[in-house]
Amino acid sequence: MEDSFKHKGRRKRLMQELKNKGITDEHVLDAILNVPRHFFFPKDFWDEAYEDKAFPIGSGQTISQPYTVACQTQLLGVCKGDAILEVGTGSGYQAAILAYMGAQVFTIERVEELFKRTTQLFSRLRLPVTCYLGDGSIGLPSKAPFDGIVVTAGGNSLAEQLKEQLKVGGRLVLPTGNRSIQKMVLITRAVENNYKRSEHGEFKFVPLLGKYGWET
Ligand code: SAM
Repeated sequence: MEDSFKHKGRRKRLMQELKNKGITDEHVLDAILNVPRHFFFPKDFWDEAYEDKAFPIGSGQTISQPYTVACQTQLLGVCKGDAILEVGTGSGYQAAILAYMGAQVFTIERVEELFKRTTQLFSRLRLPVTCYLGDGSIGLPSKAPFDGIVVTAGGNSLAEQLKEQLKVGGRLVLPTGNRSIQKMVLITRAVENNYKRSEHGEFKFVPLLGKYGWET
């Protein structure tokens, strides 16, 4: 896996583009600058990796647009050592950004082919990310509670089962709406039984499937 000057230069340009679009968290921008997004693309398409666009990764799924990854990561407010659950491993890029920021990352993917490919990639890149194959719409109760949970597929509910897997002070970032458009929602567990909710723009994700998602 080669990270050339050309790719580094393109990442610098992408980072500036995300800054211009409103990403302000320096830690997130630093991760965008340092994690080679092309590693998460098929080699024939490496040149497309630094466009601010989603891209197909097989099995009908996509690697999220860099702006979306930056926005979700900024909303998560990641601190070094935080335990973060990602629902929807996909290419592994979002998980790699979180790992770069020093989080302890747990990620779940429901498509076996993507799970296998991405698990191999993480071990090749020596990234300390723990992957699970299964239905992430139910969360990961065995590893809860989490400092943060990020859902990278579009659901249709506010995910009570995920809220309960947050620590007090923890943050859940999830796109929710209908199949074609979703609002980015941030839910913070303020105290044990009190959650605060805010909305952060509209996005378009592939559907969250499974028990608490859309039907397959
Ligand atoms: N975070 C990914 C990345 O960085 O490439 C983006 C992945 S894509 C936008 C969303 C992923 O969520 C797909 O790989 C899809 O298979 C997965 N997904 C959908 N429903 C799921 C579920 N219930 N549990 C786990 N993964 C799910």
